[in-house]
Amino acid sequence: MHQIDRHIKVIEFPGRPYANCNCLLLEDDIPCLIDAGFDESHLEDLQKSSVQLLVNSHGHADHCHYNHMFPEAKVLMHPANYEIIASAENYLKDLAFDTMVEQEWTSLFMQAVCYRPTRVDGEIQDGQEISTGRYRFQVLHMPGHCAGHCCFLFPEKGFVFTSDIEFAEFGPWYGAVSSSVPDQLRSIDRLAAIGADYYISGHHQPVVRDHHGRKLKAYRDTILQRQRRVAELLYGGGNTVEEIAKEFPIYRRLPNPRQTFWPHEYMMVYKHLLYLEEQGYAGQDGATWFPAKTGIGTTHLSL
Ligand SMILES: [Zn+2]
Repeated sequence: MHQIDRHIKVIEFPGRPYANCNCLLLEDDIPCLIDAGFDESHLEDLQKSSVQLLVNSHGHADHCHYNHMFPEAKVLMHPANYEIIASAENYLKDLAFDTMVEQEWTSLFMQAVCYRPTRVDGEIQDGQEISTGRYRFQVLHMPGHCAGHCCFLFPEKGFVFTSDIEFAEFGPWYGAVSSSVPDQLRSIDRLAAIGADYYISGHHQPVVRDHHGRKLKAYRDTILQRQRRVAELLYGGGNTVEEIAKEFPIYRRLPNPRQTFWPHEYMMVYKHLLYLEEQGYAGQDGATWFPAKTGIGTTHLSL
């Protein structure tokens, strides 16, 4: 555990990312836990903390798989994620696994991420202030990664818990049906404008200092580079999502297991095509995508 204030602890999970996450414990008048995807070794200690309030940054399994171990706590989440936490069927549908992944791999995936439906007792909304006694924090609805993704600003402490805006080298993830490239860009811009002293990231090294905004900019640039690669493939003749995704413009090399990363690659390509369409650079006719501006090269697209 990493103590960042007398009564605020980061429950760090630097290893094996994406089945677990970094969480935050506020040992306050109302003991509060932000996210519950910590390593099992912390479970006993955290249960002793008599958590009364459990706030989930979003509904992905790596952020709420121990929710059920806090039956006394009031669980809060953004309503845009209520659907995916209600059933495995909904969860898989949002990841497009229902149509793209074979049952065998779906089962392995759900075991690996420790999915279980979770109850919610109340919602959080953008701008809402939550006070736990001596501490207060503000909910920032930051969609893009998924529709209900939220960050939490601690104005007196100068940091933002950024959850899955997590500075990973391979860039942001927005491979769900409820994900959005422009939303992700707006959320990153909004975070940058806050100018926090530091961030608590949901994965990898939890405390991230980014005084000059370089890390956030690099993270944002990764999205724009992907956007350009997808545009180049579209303007180079690729005309279905599958054709473009098979060139791996997102991951470049599809990570293992390929069976479960393929829908992420495919969906992120699809999300980029939708954004290109919104920008007037792409059109679609059924399953066929086409360049909407003819006679120009991709270098002329101001992406
Ligand atoms: Zn997530």
